[in-house]
Amino acid sequence: MHPLRTLILAAGANDAVRRLVATAPVARDVVARFVAGETADQAVTVTRTLVDGGLSVSLDYLGEDTTDRALAEQTVQSYLLLLDRLHAEGLAGHTEVSVKLSAVGQALDERLALDNASRICAAAEQCGTTVTLDMEDHTTTDSTLRVLAEVRRSWPWVGAVLQAYLRRTLDDCVALSGAGSRVRLCKGAYAEPEGVAYADRHEVDLNYVRCANALLSGNGYPMFATHDPRLVSVISERALWYDREPGSYEYQMLYGIRPDEQRRLADSGEAVRVYVPYGEQWYGYLMRRLAERPANTAFFLRSLVGT
Ligand code: FAD
Repeated sequence: MHPLRTLILAAGANDAVRRLVATAPVARDVVARFVAGETADQAVTVTRTLVDGGLSVSLDYLGEDTTDRALAEQTVQSYLLLLDRLHAEGLAGHTEVSVKLSAVGQALDERLALDNASRICAAAEQCGTTVTLDMEDHTTTDSTLRVLAEVRRSWPWVGAVLQAYLRRTLDDCVALSGAGSRVRLCKGAYAEPEGVAYADRHEVDLNYVRCANALLSGNGYPMFATHDPRLVSVISERALWYDREPGSYEYQMLYGIRPDEQRRLADSGEAVRVYVPYGEQWYGYLMRRLAERPANTAFFLRSLVGT
């Protein structure tokens, strides 16, 4: 892993850096580029604009690594409130929610995370929308896939996320490529040991393509989450090869990243979903985005020192 990336991911766990970022007014403007706001109202406003522009949305109420039952419950309540709002605003048909199991109690007890995720899935079903379970660091992969298998018994449309940087992921893609399955394929955003993950970017990209082939050749609904222009063009070529019509798979990108490309793909008839994070716990998310791209980091650091 690039040393700058390692450093920024470490800063993500540092309280002094966290306080500095949270209190620097200009930095908050930079945060707004990647995060829709701190409230459900702000998230709904951003969602409306994206949906009016022909894009679908997946909303993420920010938060992770909860070791407090009350906080896990608060996260569930935030999702229930959000789902109500999306339904009331007529947006549910174009949106879904993304849920991190670590935010709803996975570190405390897998059963608690399963129960909480199930409550969110039941509410999503009532509102006419769907849920995808985000994937976190590799120590949680087995647990997340177990919870996924459980919730899919009642809600078979619940989506999974698989990370191309993990050596295990091609097997997981094959296992989850059947009819009814929804799989988001991303490169992976955490600092992982080399024993479990490819360290070399080229190897990650190669594995992404192998995994994309496995998903496109199956009967499920693949969701390709990447901003990488090379991968986007490989996927569109592979989709043709596998006779996949636009709409039988989708592209996903993060809010604030390559918005012109999001619109270009949508205008060309592709299904495109934008991942929109919101909530007060934006810090860890922001650090992962900065770690991915030195240009973002330089821009952000300049805003912290006010130049
Ligand atoms: P990168 O290797 O970061 O970038 C490749 C190329 O994309 C760059 O060289 C550049 O050309 C272009 N690019 C990237 N960023 C920019 C930018 N800001 N501006 C202009 N061009 C840019 N990770 C997880 O671990 N778990 C998850 O559940 C998860 N969910 C995700 C959901 C969505 C919808 C998306 C898009 C990503 C998700 N990720 C998740 C993050 C993902 O794993 C990567 O860390 C992240 O997407 C960066 O990888 P990339 O494929 O965009 O390629």
